[in-house]
Amino acid sequence: MAFDNLSEKLQNVFKNLRSKGRLTEDDVKSALKEVKLALLEADVNFKVVKQFIKTVQERAIGQDVMNGLNPGQMVIKIVNEEMIALMGSETTEIALKSGNEITVIMMAGLQGAGKTTTTAKIAGKLKQKGRNPLLTACDVYRPAAIEQLKINGEKQGVEVFSMGDKNKPVDIAKAAVEHAQKNGFNVVILDTAGRLHVDEEMMDELVAIKNAVDVTQTILVVDAMTGQDAVNVAGMFDEKIGIDGVILTKLDGDTRGGAALSIRAVTGKPILYIGMGEKLSDLEQFYPDRMASRILG
Ligand code: GDP
Repeated sequence: MAFDNLSEKLQNVFKNLRSKGRLTEDDVKSALKEVKLALLEADVNFKVVKQFIKTVQERAIGQDVMNGLNPGQMVIKIVNEEMIALMGSETTEIALKSGNEITVIMMAGLQGAGKTTTTAKIAGKLKQKGRNPLLTACDVYRPAAIEQLKINGEKQGVEVFSMGDKNKPVDIAKAAVEHAQKNGFNVVILDTAGRLHVDEEMMDELVAIKNAVDVTQTILVVDAMTGQDAVNVAGMFDEKIGIDGVILTKLDGDTRGGAALSIRAVTGKPILYIGMGEKLSDLEQFYPDRMASRILG
């Protein structure tokens, strides 16, 4: 599982803190220096780390902590609370329209991030919630992507709307919404095209789709294993098209954890779900407090 290195390092720091009856200011500072190094090694954004340590230090050197019965425990508690805050404190759900009004979810991301797989995973989650989702193949540049979506849709028992690769993504999206209206679907999930890198053409296409079909939620899929690149990609997508939330994939293979710990603080956008494997059931809702517990052990 992710964060193993980070967890181990933090646990060592905490063990030291706990073993001390009283703490001096220097004890706290040197412990936080080690926390800082551990976070930087985990590829957490350096500005985020700096602010995090500053906040923890200000709180930890306060009178209540230093004069308390269990100063070490208090410092650990503060680290835990601030780590939860870093990841957004609360769980954010995908915002769905009520009743039979159609929610349109646009999935975006770079090629290979796990977008097509995640699109099908999300369809499964929505179905579990009693929704009737329609998957839509808007990636017309890679016929294999259309085929993959169809296979995954079938596995999830969810219909896949496709017009092959000869139509414009904007027209496919519009047709999908019409199809949904006529056939009783209440969520349309658009699987859009990804590129290897962020480029203007991809962004323009996403903006065009967004304008054409009144997208309710724009969700960006990023690969946690790419660390700070994932954070930068999220920033760029948000700037160009505006995103509502992020899904972090491949957290099962991410040994460092830097993206998970930075993305919210850097972009201001919540992590909605985390991908924990290749199977279509390997998608978990994101709980900042549970994630902090996983990291802190
Ligand atoms: P797309 O190009 O963004 O549509 O990416 P795909 O959905 O085709 O996924 C690329 C690869 O990543 C595939 O082999 C997926 O099985 C794999 N993948 C997607 N999500 C996860 C995840 O959460 N964990 C792991 N281990 N693999 C994933």
